[in-house]
Amino acid sequence: MNGDVIMYINVLGAGLAGCEAAWQIARRGIPVRLYEMKPYKKTPAHSSDHFCELICSNSLKAARVESAAGLLKEEMRRLGSLLMQCADQCAVPAGGALAVDREAFSSMVTERICSHPLITVVAGEVTDFPADGITVVATGPLTSDALAEKIIARCGGSLHFFDAAAPIVTAESIDMGLAFTASRYDKGGDDAYINCPMNKEEYEAFHAALVSAERAPRHDVDVMNPKVYEGCMPVEILAGRGQDTLRFGPMKPVGLRDPRTGHRPWAVVQLRTENCEKSMYNLVGFQTNLKFAEQKRVFGMIPALHDAEYVRYGVMHRNTFLDSPKVLGADYAMKDQPELFFAGQMTGVEGYMESASSGMLAGINAARRLQGRAPLILPKETMMGALADYVAHAQSKDFQPMGANLGILPPLEEQIRDKRERAAAYAQRALKLLAPYTE
Ligand SMILES: Cc1cc2nc3c(=O)[nH]c(=O)nc-3n(C[C@H](O)[C@H](O)[C@H](O)COP(=O)(O)OP(=O)(O)OC[C@H]3O[C@@H](n4cnc5c(N)ncnc54)[C@H](O)[C@@H]3O)c2cc1C
Repeated sequence: MNGDVIMYINVLGAGLAGCEAAWQIARRGIPVRLYEMKPYKKTPAHSSDHFCELICSNSLKAARVESAAGLLKEEMRRLGSLLMQCADQCAVPAGGALAVDREAFSSMVTERICSHPLITVVAGEVTDFPADGITVVATGPLTSDALAEKIIARCGGSLHFFDAAAPIVTAESIDMGLAFTASRYDKGGDDAYINCPMNKEEYEAFHAALVSAERAPRHDVDVMNPKVYEGCMPVEILAGRGQDTLRFGPMKPVGLRDPRTGHRPWAVVQLRTENCEKSMYNLVGFQTNLKFAEQKRVFGMIPALHDAEYVRYGVMHRNTFLDSPKVLGADYAMKDQPELFFAGQMTGVEGYMESASSGMLAGINAARRLQGRAPLILPKETMMGALADYVAHAQSKDFQPMGANLGILPPLEEQIRDKRERAAAYAQRALKLLAPYTE
């Protein structure tokens, strides 16, 4: 304390956004109190004791900078992101994506946070806003009930929808006599994915079982009218849209040839490795709300998974976010209470690194507020700036979470027809405009 001026910043939640926010504040020389309810209490989707847990996929999406997700990650790298440093060190083979060994990643972030001399971790559930000082709220889409009530009371209501997670199986339980390793079109190494092929009869029997399988009940208040984020749509719901929907979606066989037959399979389930040891694999795109026994029965109809052993079954959960355009500015602070910042999925950004990027900016701006400096508002041409701008200025009516995508960037001055070249031009412009802000 310095007189009656509080010389630290509170960060609530040590998830993707909270860890990045705490790190950014601390690296600006300001002490942080980081509150996390683990290990005493966990949300229904978190299971590890570590911070920064990836609760579903272990993919941080496309790696190449000429893509929306790749550009976001590159911007974060250039602004000194802790999570990007750790992700790059914990990468596992994943074709064109950056995927990480989730255990190694979370423990590395936890270690870096806990060993920082300016970060004090306070373990336990937070049930109200801290009485004093600048605060960054980053308790995520599954914020515990007591605090969620306080946030709703403070922010005037909230919205929610549903998200689902895919199952994970052990590598040794996959029948490799019926599967093959390959990336689509041989891009990104030939062992990036394990592919479980199906012929027409196998696929049709699987599809019929999937659409009629028993689903788990949901207990949330709006169970009668749930909104499900399209990117996390349960596989059984996708299957219900038509016999071939999965063959054009997560089970598409394009770019793959089964070495046993020499032909493209009728359908393919791709498995992506979860860890560097390649001892666990997730079923890509197979997020589900089926009862656990039904997952074992129905996914067991995938020939290579007939004896699969499940490390984790798929689950479906409520996901809460604010009506941000009404309450937040592009600095991620509340418009009518500039000492209270929000970060992460609850602000209406969607995805791991999008959440982390908002944590970076909220942390940087919380630090700048304490230092009496103007907030950092990045150009809208950068992906981080565009996401912050979306959160603050999107149409509030039916506000929906947004992941990194090139569509939220202002159009280029010149029209470029080739998709890849266009993406490259967006990336080049963004990184040029970001340059004055990098260290
Ligand atoms: C079921 C499910 C599946 C998902 N799958 C994906 C996916 O595959 N890919 C993807 O990109 N995104 C996915 N998401 C979105 C994902 O939640 C975000 O991308 C990311 O985890 C959000 O980061 P965050 O920091 O906002 O929240 P989190 O990472 O959830 O971190 C919040 C932290 O706050 C803590 N906390 C909560 N309440 C309190 C409290 N009262 N006091 C103290 N601590 C508290 C929690 O324990 C947690 O550690 C999924 C979300 C859900 C719910």
